[in-house]
Amino acid sequence: MQVRWNFKLLPNQSQEATLEDWLVTLRKHRNYALRERTVGFETNNKDNDSSIIYAYGSYCEIESRIEYGTCCPLTCPVLKHGVVPQKLELATKESKVKDKETKKVIKTVVKWDSASGIQMKVTTQLRKYLNNFAIVDSDVLQRNIANLDTAYSNFFKLGRGYPQFIKRLDSFEYKPGRVLLRHIRKNYATAYLPGIGDVKFHNSRDLSLIQDLRTCTVKREGGNWYISMLVNIAEVLPDVMPLEKCKSIVGIDVGINKLVALSDGSFAENKRTTTNTRTARRLSMRQRAISRKQKGSKNKIKAVKKLAKQKHKLAQYRDGYGWQVAKVVVKTADVVARVDLRIKNMVKRAKPKHDGKGGYKRNGASQKTGLNKVILDAGWGDIFNKIAWLAVKNGKPVILVLAKHTSQECPKCGHIDKKNRDGEKFLCAVCHHTDHADTKASRTIARRVGMVFPKNKKTLPTDCGKVTLSRHQSLRVETENHAFETAGFQLNLL
Ligand SMILES: [Zn+2]
Repeated sequence: MQVRWNFKLLPNQSQEATLEDWLVTLRKHRNYALRERTVGFETNNKDNDSSIIYAYGSYCEIESRIEYGTCCPLTCPVLKHGVVPQKLELATKESKVKDKETKKVIKTVVKWDSASGIQMKVTTQLRKYLNNFAIVDSDVLQRNIANLDTAYSNFFKLGRGYPQFIKRLDSFEYKPGRVLLRHIRKNYATAYLPGIGDVKFHNSRDLSLIQDLRTCTVKREGGNWYISMLVNIAEVLPDVMPLEKCKSIVGIDVGINKLVALSDGSFAENKRTTTNTRTARRLSMRQRAISRKQKGSKNKIKAVKKLAKQKHKLAQYRDGYGWQVAKVVVKTADVVARVDLRIKNMVKRAKPKHDGKGGYKRNGASQKTGLNKVILDAGWGDIFNKIAWLAVKNGKPVILVLAKHTSQECPKCGHIDKKNRDGEKFLCAVCHHTDHADTKASRTIARRVGMVFPKNKKTLPTDCGKVTLSRHQSLRVETENHAFETAGFQLNLL
């Protein structure tokens, strides 16, 4: 099983200074490489004096994003009009063809190297006489160029934006096998980062489980340093329990008033991490402090750092609370049912209202912006992801149901009406059934899966959620993060 493990690094003062120097060099390095390729493209490299010559123009169209063959001037150095670079060995590469049986080299083929290949070679040369390049690990520099290549391929193949110059770089990567971990004693280990040295970290996991250590990313967040590593561990995920064997279900409804309402009648409170009165006031104070400071001053940098630290702290708090809530939800039953929300559509800006005279009417934009802030602060999507992961880890299925009318439908008579709901209260306009609105919505969600609460209230508590399988119907089942598959079951009354 491949998982990502994150640890907080505890670098000493000199290590921290080196890390910061590296990030500055790497940022400049990336921006320089980007500029070199862009200028080469725009000027058609008519200036033969520049040491590297890419060729260009007719091989690629920026607007239509079409690359002709592999000859894109931004990613490949095809020479134009017979112009030969002064240093030919930089622009070409040799690949050797081996005989499969004898394993002897038959012939060497000389090819034009890629733009990244050339830039990597130049970087290696720069390291000989530029000290700030020399102190950075060569692998890290190469990875930096490779990241730029990824940005270009995202632009051409995935339709993302054109690579931008970056003002701030906060992370760098080591290739697999470069970082070495050493267990010192309980909760205390070191990571050997080439070029930096042994960096301490507080270890909360069993490092002996690691079979293979893949790419490691070192990043800076809110004034702290973290290492994020992709590891292969011996643990295997359990099979997801088939729906026929599931004995209980919990439906969850997410909201603003109560963060999560469970169908067993319990709630998880919404802590409003960044939008509660106290933190919202503090954040706006810090923001105001930044805008008061003079541009480019040291005091401004200090103020920015303070705000970043505060935001990082709040983000961590929200993350931790999200895990607590997800744990409670998954523990409650064998199956978790949740609504299929389109959160991106819910936080769109209010549409402008025209008044017909070339002006605008009031459209409640500031109210909507405030609501969007609260929705994003609640972090529903994040909680869904956490629930999905914990469910997979415990072999429990997560089922998605349609969100339409979950809060307006009456559980007794099925009457759907906006008027049924009044804040936290639910009162059916037809049969006068009353309930807590959020709890009711979560029970509707659980019912839509096909699992119905037992009728015999005397022998079983109303909302114990015990069910048994009866009919077949197509359902969407979430087996892991963002992965869906279809299962042909429905569960029904005991
Ligand atoms: Zn009703």
